[in-house]
Amino acid sequence: MTAAPDALPPLAGLQTARLDWRRDEGGEEAPHSAAFDDVYFSRHDGRAETEHVFLHANRLPARFAEWQEARPFVIGETGFGTGLNMLCAWACFDAHSPPTARLHLVSTEKFPLAREDLARALAAWPDLAERAARLVAQWPEPVAGVHRLWLDERVTLDLHFGDTTERLERLDGRVDAWFLDGFAPSKNPEMWRPELFAALAARSRPGATLATFTCAGVVKRGLAAAGFAWRKVPGFGRKREMLAGEIVAPPEDRRRAATPWFTPPAARAARHVAVVGAGIAGASVAAALARRGVAVTLLDREGPGSGGSGNEQGALYVKLAADTNPQSRVYLAGLLHSRRLLEALDPERTLWSPCGVLQLAMSDREQARQTRFLAHHPLPGRVVHGVSAEEASRLSSTPIEHGGLHYPEAGWVRPAALCRRLAATPGVTCRRAEVVGLTPGDDGWTLALGEGKGERLTADQVVIATAALANRFAQTAALPLQPVRGQVSRLALPEGAPTLDRVVCAGGYVPPPLDGTLTFGATFAPNRDETAVHEADHAANLAELEATLPTFVAALREAGAALEPATLEGRAAVRAASPDKSPYAGPVPLAEAWAADYALLAKDATRVPETPGRHHEGLWISAAHGSRGLASAPLCAELIASRICDEPLPLEAPLVDHLHPGRRLIRDLIQGKPPTRGVGNGS
Ligand code: SAM
Repeated sequence: MTAAPDALPPLAGLQTARLDWRRDEGGEEAPHSAAFDDVYFSRHDGRAETEHVFLHANRLPARFAEWQEARPFVIGETGFGTGLNMLCAWACFDAHSPPTARLHLVSTEKFPLAREDLARALAAWPDLAERAARLVAQWPEPVAGVHRLWLDERVTLDLHFGDTTERLERLDGRVDAWFLDGFAPSKNPEMWRPELFAALAARSRPGATLATFTCAGVVKRGLAAAGFAWRKVPGFGRKREMLAGEIVAPPEDRRRAATPWFTPPAARAARHVAVVGAGIAGASVAAALARRGVAVTLLDREGPGSGGSGNEQGALYVKLAADTNPQSRVYLAGLLHSRRLLEALDPERTLWSPCGVLQLAMSDREQARQTRFLAHHPLPGRVVHGVSAEEASRLSSTPIEHGGLHYPEAGWVRPAALCRRLAATPGVTCRRAEVVGLTPGDDGWTLALGEGKGERLTADQVVIATAALANRFAQTAALPLQPVRGQVSRLALPEGAPTLDRVVCAGGYVPPPLDGTLTFGATFAPNRDETAVHEADHAANLAELEATLPTFVAALREAGAALEPATLEGRAAVRAASPDKSPYAGPVPLAEAWAADYALLAKDATRVPETPGRHHEGLWISAAHGSRGLASAPLCAELIASRICDEPLPLEAPLVDHLHPGRRLIRDLIQGKPPTRGVGNGS
């Protein structure tokens, strides 16, 4: 049995596929699954089989040629394997689709191939080599969850790693054409079960088609019971028959029955979107929308990369809870996502470095927490693993007295420069202006721009991404947000200063020196929103640095570094946090309507009304990223852009709900509490 869709399977690494490389009938090497005793494809005629079974039986060449929708055409697949089917679908899309069309591929995989096996398998198809190289370059670590890859400007691939049925039950998105792959039902009966067909039907768009190589009775019965019509059509090669079909009766989506407030607003026009705030949250949303062909105006009173995103250097890291919770899942997904995004955006690594992050266990309590974390999260060593003090010293090239966690693929980023790069995405127009008010109209929004000039801007939709100022608008005033002041210190390094090869975190963080400067910090002062630089904060940062890396600090002093609070440079900025410390990413709820529609919950939380959540139509928010926006904001941006553009989402449905900006409102309503409102009240 599958767990309830809102209870996510463990956050863990997955076993990679065990392959034999066998010679097929043509004498050519082809991958064969040792576990399932079945083939991935035949080297002899695998391409032709894919084209016959999956592409033509779903009528893809004709459907691609006719595709005129603003949203992408969505293909869903059970069992990604080597990716041959999806690469062929991409090639077919390129050959037939009009230039403005987009393709979105969603595929599940419980036993991902190791990267070397993937490359070896796909080497069989020289004319797919360029496409295969893009896939292999972005191939994720085998971690359960959703991994979004940008195959090219028009083609996105979401790999849902984990069991097919579990993954499709949690997919927030719907499909136009299904490739029912996965090994033969006789070899893989666990996959081809009734729940799989129900999940396929529930995630089908009206008119969705399907194709599969098998004609097994269990498949025919399962499809029919779930509401698909199937017919036998000629199979490929020696296989006499296969199945093609379509959804006839898509089932009612009952997923929102328990949480109707999280029902997403209906898709609406998004030709021009205004994004307010050009820090990492807003610049990421702007770039994500522009990549989809949406015209974006990105407004900021100080230009891209100021405020909390204005530092020269920041750590790309996460702190995950010892016991898995939705917040940890979001942050780990976000870290892996940011890492992939940075590699794609800046392969020369001028804006970032995946040098690795050490999270030291400086107390017995933290040591116990980390031990529990590792026991509960069997993740690949490339993602995170425990290290001793000796290993930490070796990795960082400086003596360290404590062991901890090592995230080999995390590192540091130049946040301000990254914001500027994202804001320079073609299709984004930057404007230096303060937005002082938002007025809804029949076709969108009017933004009042500040400084008394009475200037206005109109847009179909608006995304608010102004950190601690995000709830200054009437529409967002009900969202609890807390300002948090943080100051970093900067030290110009003398000749002969010691090296540091990893970002080291404990109470604060210190990345490897950049451009001859060591940055360290940051202070954490909730409910303070002034940005003057204070000597006392430098002293606090210095004390923290010395406690974390005493030998390193002694060597700095010996080299003549001016480690005095009075002489340090620095920068202070205000970040924003939500009461539960997870970001807000999604549509802005109509707070008064929620209070009325869900008032009864205070008396009886089990009497959930059917009323879907009402929202400010076309108004979105990405905020409350705290000091970890480098890990959370790019993924939240994809989430919002995907929702605006009516695409499948890059996170599991329960995590999308976890990020919903209305989650505190409904919690307060259920608990019968007065709403926690406004800046400074977010504890
Ligand atoms: N579509 C693939 C391609 O183009 O190369 C071939 C798929 S291969 C025949 C079947 C795949 O289904 C394997 O990669 C296998 O690991 C995967 N699989 C089997 N059972 C699964 C399950 N329950 N959930 C997810 N994936 C599964």
